[in-house]
Amino acid sequence: MPIAFYNTLSRTVEEFIPMHEAEVRMYTCGPTVYDYFHIGNARSFVMSDIIRRYFEYRGYKVTYVMNITDIDDKIINRANEQGVPSSDIAEKYTEAFLRDTALFGIRPADVHPRATETMEEIIAHIQGLIERGAAYAVDGDVFFRVSAFDGYGKLSRKNIEDLVVGSRVEADPRKENPVDFALWKSAKPGEPAWDAPWGSGRPGWHIECSVMSQKFLGKSFDIHAGGNDLIFPHHENEIAQSEALTDAPFARYWIHFGFLNIDNEKMSKSLGNFFTAREILEKYPATVLRFYYLQTHYRSPLNFTPEGIEAAKTGLQKLQGLYDAVRAAVSGDGAFDVEAWEQRFITAMDDDFNTPAGFGALFEMVRDANAVLRSDEGMADAAREKLAAFLRRTGVELFGILHEETEENAGGEALDGVMRLLIDIRAEARKDKQFALSDRIRDGLKGLGIALEDGRDGTTWKYNS
Ligand code: AMP
Ligand code: ZN
Repeated sequence: MPIAFYNTLSRTVEEFIPMHEAEVRMYTCGPTVYDYFHIGNARSFVMSDIIRRYFEYRGYKVTYVMNITDIDDKIINRANEQGVPSSDIAEKYTEAFLRDTALFGIRPADVHPRATETMEEIIAHIQGLIERGAAYAVDGDVFFRVSAFDGYGKLSRKNIEDLVVGSRVEADPRKENPVDFALWKSAKPGEPAWDAPWGSGRPGWHIECSVMSQKFLGKSFDIHAGGNDLIFPHHENEIAQSEALTDAPFARYWIHFGFLNIDNEKMSKSLGNFFTAREILEKYPATVLRFYYLQTHYRSPLNFTPEGIEAAKTGLQKLQGLYDAVRAAVSGDGAFDVEAWEQRFITAMDDDFNTPAGFGALFEMVRDANAVLRSDEGMADAAREKLAAFLRRTGVELFGILHEETEENAGGEALDGVMRLLIDIRAEARKDKQFALSDRIRDGLKGLGIALEDGRDGTTWKYNS
């Protein structure tokens, strides 16, 4: 049975047929780097990473691209508030994004393209659209001509007439049609700008994603993903700008993640009901948070509660308990059919990446396996090894929720976390020129037999031999 999942484009669960045998090319909209990302963003990033890893689990070779939007109004506004160049803001929060996603156990994408490093391709794409009559320049701005693209509205199922009525009030009079949208914004004083044939300025957000995805995945690729809020206008516009130039289908499958709410309200900064990923990681281990997210289907909304996380902690201990027990158990004779459980797990996950159903199967397996392990007969070695391998492939490699340490060698993961924290504090101290503090951290660790090494990609640590 092949993998099937919900395609927003067709509004149905479709069998997945990749463009290239056993390969998946996937793009997910990444962060706009003007602040630390929050636990709602983290949910989308985790679920996207899990879908990528599930394809790998099922034997596909995956090329996974996630952009970093490092030029945008929000970044420029934040930079102006603080009186620093916008590249400082973008750099700071790009670094924070890469570090916090790592702490969350989210694997880096194969490529994290940045808009500012894709400028040549963005300008060429816009130029191509102008030449084809699908875009027009006015006073240094460039707009996409929605009437030039027949398929406009096919993803969000909106029709142009309704959109025209809705957008007439605040429409820019320079637009031919109120639904036309900006591909390029002319330079304003004090803003970063790039030279282009129609005048210097910077790209709009939508065109950045069209170009960054196609640059690394080709003009047509398998999957494009992002949060539910991006269906319109972001993804609708991405399709229009891309297909109007290439005449080829852009992404063939569209995946959208449900929102994370707090107290059944959309989490947002203005409401103050807001946690950053780094705040939450100080309270709970990443493994528990990941498991918490995974217990809800990726398309459903998730109402964030501390009680829900506590429950996830207890559930996860059961799975970890079996993983520890199966590796520590002595030889026995009892049979255990791991393949049958794996089949049930795959059947659940193949159906629209149904993680709650997948865990349903895993937890039934936990009950059965514990019964065999605790019986007088115990579990035969071959079955034990297969069970441990299955738990490693699912719990460790696919979901990133189990750890390898058993009670005897516990501490390794915690130490790693403590060291990362100390390295961060030292880096911040050095930035603030608090050299006495940064030296105290380095020298104190030296006394404990741990050396810090500063390299181009940051600081690492090792035991002094
Ligand atoms: P942004 O940095 O705002 O462009 O968002 C990055 C990603 O997080 C996008 O895919 C958004 O759709 C997604 N996202 C934003 N808020 C939430 C939320 N509350 N729950 C789930 N995903 C979200
Ligand atoms: Zn995007």
